[in-house]
Amino acid sequence: MSTITMDQLINSNPVLNNIKHSKEVFWQNPMYLPVKEATPKTNYSMINIEDSEARLQRFASFIRIAFPETEETEGIIESPLSQIKEMQAHLNETFMTPIEGKLWLKRDDLLPISGTIKARGAIYEVLKHAENLALEHGMLNSMEEDYSVFASEEFEQFFSQFHIAVGTTGNLGISVGTMARKLGFNVTVHMSVEAKQWKKDYLRSKGVEVIEHDTDFSRAVENGRAESDANPQSYFVDDEHSEELFLGYTVGGYRMKKQLENEGVVVDADHPLFVYLPCGIGGSPGGITFGLKQAFGEHVHCFFAEPTKMPSMLVGLLTEKYDEVSVFDLGLGGLTIADGLAVPRTSGLVAKLMRTFFGGGFSVQDDVFKALLSSLYEKESIFLEPAAVAGMIGPYRMATTEEGNDYIKSKGLSDKMHQATHIAWATGGSMVPEKDRNVFLEESKAYAL
Ligand SMILES: *Cc1c(COP(=O)(O)O)cnc(C)c1O
Repeated sequence: MSTITMDQLINSNPVLNNIKHSKEVFWQNPMYLPVKEATPKTNYSMINIEDSEARLQRFASFIRIAFPETEETEGIIESPLSQIKEMQAHLNETFMTPIEGKLWLKRDDLLPISGTIKARGAIYEVLKHAENLALEHGMLNSMEEDYSVFASEEFEQFFSQFHIAVGTTGNLGISVGTMARKLGFNVTVHMSVEAKQWKKDYLRSKGVEVIEHDTDFSRAVENGRAESDANPQSYFVDDEHSEELFLGYTVGGYRMKKQLENEGVVVDADHPLFVYLPCGIGGSPGGITFGLKQAFGEHVHCFFAEPTKMPSMLVGLLTEKYDEVSVFDLGLGGLTIADGLAVPRTSGLVAKLMRTFFGGGFSVQDDVFKALLSSLYEKESIFLEPAAVAGMIGPYRMATTEEGNDYIKSKGLSDKMHQATHIAWATGGSMVPEKDRNVFLEESKAYAL
C-alpha cells in the first residue's frame, strides 16, 4: 500500500488519527446491519452453531475420561457467569459516573483444560480434525458411535502418525497442544516473541515441540504455516484464516441464552445486553459475537477491546483494508502488557464478517490494563491475565465518550440503560503460575484506579 493513501485515510478520519497517535478511542461501527439482514450475507447460520454444539456433545464422553476436571460438567467445557458488585462499586466511585445496569464477568479464565477462551475454538478445531481423520481411516464407522473410544490406546496409536502445528502468542498453543497431545498427535507450536517462558515450559512438559521465533505473531504464524504445509501428515491450526476456530467460538456466544435465563437475567427490547470482548486477531470475540447475535438479535450489543499499541481490528475496519493493513503501517506496535492481544494484523475472515455484526470497538492503554487487573484482584479476589481485563472498562467508555453516548441514543436506549446487563468477557488467567501472577500484580499495583 502506498504511504500517501494511508496518510490521506488518517487525515480524513479523526478516530484513525487518534489511533495513530496511540490515544484511546471509542468507535461506533457505521456498517452494522440488523442480524436478519447480516446473517444471510455470510456463509454461516444457526445450522453451523448447532452442528458445532453437536460435535462438542459427541466428544463429551471422551473429554470426561481424558480430563477428569470436566466430570462435574460431564465433559462439556463451559464457564460460570458472576456479578462483580464490588468492582462495579469501585469503578463507579472512581469515574464518578455510575454504570447504569449491572456488571457481570464471564469467567472463561476458569474454563477447564486450558483456562482461556481459546479452549472454545482451539479444542473444537482439534476435535473436528481428529473426527475427520477417524472417519476417513475407518477408526469410526459413524458419528453415532460412543466417542469414549478416542481415549483408547488404539486411537492414541492411530493419531501418533499425524502432526498438528500452530503459531501463537501462547494461549492458542496451550489449548491446541494440550488437546492434541492427549489424543496422541505430535504437536509443534511456533511461539512469537511475546510468549511467556512459563507457556513454553508448560507445553514442553506435555511433550510438545516448541519453536521460539524472535518475531511478532504474524511472522510466527507464517513460519509455522510454511513448515506445516511442507509435511503432508501435518495439519495447521491457522489463527488468521480458520473457519473451524470461529465456529468453535460461536457456541460460547449462543450458550449465553441458557446461562442468562438460568441466572434470571432478562434480555429484550427493554433490557439491553452489552458484551465487551478482548480482541487479538478477532477469532474469539468474532465467533462469540456471531453466536450472541443469533441468540439475542438486536437486543445484544457487542464491543471489542484492544490495546492502543495493537488495535488491529480497529485499523482493519476503519481503513476497510481488513488483513491487508497492519498496525505497523500506522507506526504503532511494540510490546504490550496484554500479550494475548498482541496481534498486528487482524483476521480477514473475521474482520469482514464483524463489519456487519458488532457495535464497534475501543482501545485501552497499558496503564488501564494494569489498573483493572489490580483493582479486580483487590475488590473481588479474582486474578485475570492482562489481556482478559480489557472488557471491564467497556461500560464506562459507553457512558463517558461522545461516541458511546451517540450509540446509546441512536439505538433508542437512553431510558433503558438502568435495566441493562453488561458482561465483561474475562478471557484467561487461572493457569498463570503464582510467580508470574505476582510479577503482574506487583507491576500493576501502582496503577490502581
Ligand atoms: C487469544 C486471546 C484473546 C483474543 O482472542 P483472538 O481470537 O486472538 O481475538 C483474548 N484474551 C486472551 C487471554 C487470549 O489468549
